[in-house]
Amino acid sequence: MSHSVPKNQEIARIETLAHTKVADCYQCGKCSAGCPMVEKMDVLPSTLIRLVQYGDIEKAASTTAVWQCVSCLTCSTRCPKSVNIAGVIDVLKQVSLEKKCVHPKIKRVVAFQKSFLNTIYRNGRTNELEMVAEYKIRGFLGDLNPLLALKDADLGLPMFLRGKLHIKVGAPVKNKALVRRIFAKCTETVRK
Ligand code: SF4
Ligand code: SF4
Repeated sequence: MSHSVPKNQEIARIETLAHTKVADCYQCGKCSAGCPMVEKMDVLPSTLIRLVQYGDIEKAASTTAVWQCVSCLTCSTRCPKSVNIAGVIDVLKQVSLEKKCVHPKIKRVVAFQKSFLNTIYRNGRTNELEMVAEYKIRGFLGDLNPLLALKDADLGLPMFLRGKLHIKVGAPVKNKALVRRIFAKCTETVRK
């Protein structure tokens, strides 16, 4: 009984942040059946919800599935019990960072997402070159493998020629302070 209270608190926090009730899930599997990423995932979206129901939060947060989810919301839309599966998975991403239990196969995905968010935080909008540079540096520092750091170098020129990589940064965002307040608000919410 001694560890049931913290488990309950963890479940309650996830439910609050995701605005949902995981106990409502009756494991019909409709969410997993409609997920476009399910074949890449190590566990099903419905299994993630089951793990959260059991309070096995760290196990859920350590899966590759939480970071392979692309937040398309198909699962949440299909759920006959209105469980916000996509919202729960979003919170599990945050938990995996807090508990430092990101699956080792996923560290480059995390490096990419951090680089993306950092460029928005700094500029108020994406700056593709800056983002790619930060991602490559993070990737290199993460695994100290120069070959991996150079892995996509041959894609740069073809992407640029096809207009998929923008060297010029668009007009600066006028109110960067507002963007930073949005970041601060999100951080404050997940800390609660
Ligand atoms: S669709 Fe809803 S009720 Fe069915 S398994 Fe998924 S979360 Fe549970
Ligand atoms: S939100 Fe994630 S888990 Fe849900 S259907 Fe889309 S990819 Fe799958």
